[in-house]
Amino acid sequence: VDFLQSLPKAELHAHLNGSIPLQTLVDLAHERPTVPVDTTDEIAEKIAILRSGLTLDGILDFFPLFRAIYPLTSTPSALSRITRDVLDSFLKAQSVPPAGFTYAPVPECTYIELRTTPRATAHMSRHTYLTTVLDEVEKFSADQAALIVSIDRRMSEADAKECVDLAITLRAAGRRVVGLDLCGDPEKGDVVTFEKHFKRGKDAGLGVTLHIAEAKASTTAESLALLGWRPDRLGHATFLSDEHKALFFADPCIEICLTSNFITKTVQSLESHHIRYYLANDHPIAICVRVESRFILSRCAEIGAVDTDDTLPFRTTLLGEYAQLLAKPPLGLGLRHEQVRRIAAMSMEARFK
Ligand code: 5GP
Repeated sequence: VDFLQSLPKAELHAHLNGSIPLQTLVDLAHERPTVPVDTTDEIAEKIAILRSGLTLDGILDFFPLFRAIYPLTSTPSALSRITRDVLDSFLKAQSVPPAGFTYAPVPECTYIELRTTPRATAHMSRHTYLTTVLDEVEKFSADQAALIVSIDRRMSEADAKECVDLAITLRAAGRRVVGLDLCGDPEKGDVVTFEKHFKRGKDAGLGVTLHIAEAKASTTAESLALLGWRPDRLGHATFLSDEHKALFFADPCIEICLTSNFITKTVQSLESHHIRYYLANDHPIAICVRVESRFILSRCAEIGAVDTDDTLPFRTTLLGEYAQLLAKPPLGLGLRHEQVRRIAAMSMEARFK
């Protein structure tokens, strides 16, 4: 553990609204009497579902969760608060070790690129959304935190354009926007119309990361088209074929979320995980905790669905994801210390500027 803690590492795949500590979410639900009752009921129902087991039926089960969270984070003050709490949860040592573990708490990572989709709500414009998040991000040094603007696949082209315009303008004004992300339900939207806007972002110096090939069914011609955008990084890339990989331009770093892949059942085992291909080919990767796995596992640990002496609570942190690299099979990949050191260094190298 000392070794893993000592490694400088970057968390590059944290979705803001998916990373909110549970207590913050509960507090917000209590503080917002204006939130319709059925919304809090919906949250309770989702929590009950999550409590009942560690896995979801599949990756598409994630997306309805956000419909329950968004009404709670639709004001500037709630948005400031969640951004603060999420950044603190990654960058400040505040957690106590799980029962049975004796390691001293340290920050989860050295650096985080937080990503979020700017939402216009009844209380704020997309511009206000982004400046509110940036105000919190910029309380940390540039060596610690930066922001990626996410474009949801369900957006219209006009909305995607507005988000990219904002990212470019804010960056030009000296705000700490470092990249663009394509996210959202992989079965929704027609992303081809977004290409020119991502290209404009790239030309303006923004890094580009794309969720790609997350679900088997959505890994078709679209993946080939997305690779043509020359992304700097790829999220998940679980089902990319050899044909896709042959099209890699300048070896995009793959953001790997081990635990999340198992929870969403997109990968069945460490033996069959696509990380093995990238390790074998010395291809850049970044290990990321991926929010919702943190979210779900911490809930399970909290209500005792997981034995706290188990390794599972350990896996709710970035440290835990790295522990799976080092642990001997079948618990982990059994990599050597120098390999894990190299992987952590790759995450730092893949940061957007
Ligand atoms: P937000 O951008 O609102 O801060 O974070 C939540 C959003 O991130 C979700 O609405 C969804 O669009 C996106 N997101 C979270 N997890 C995933 C994922 O596993 N795959 C994809 N494609 N998008 C995700």
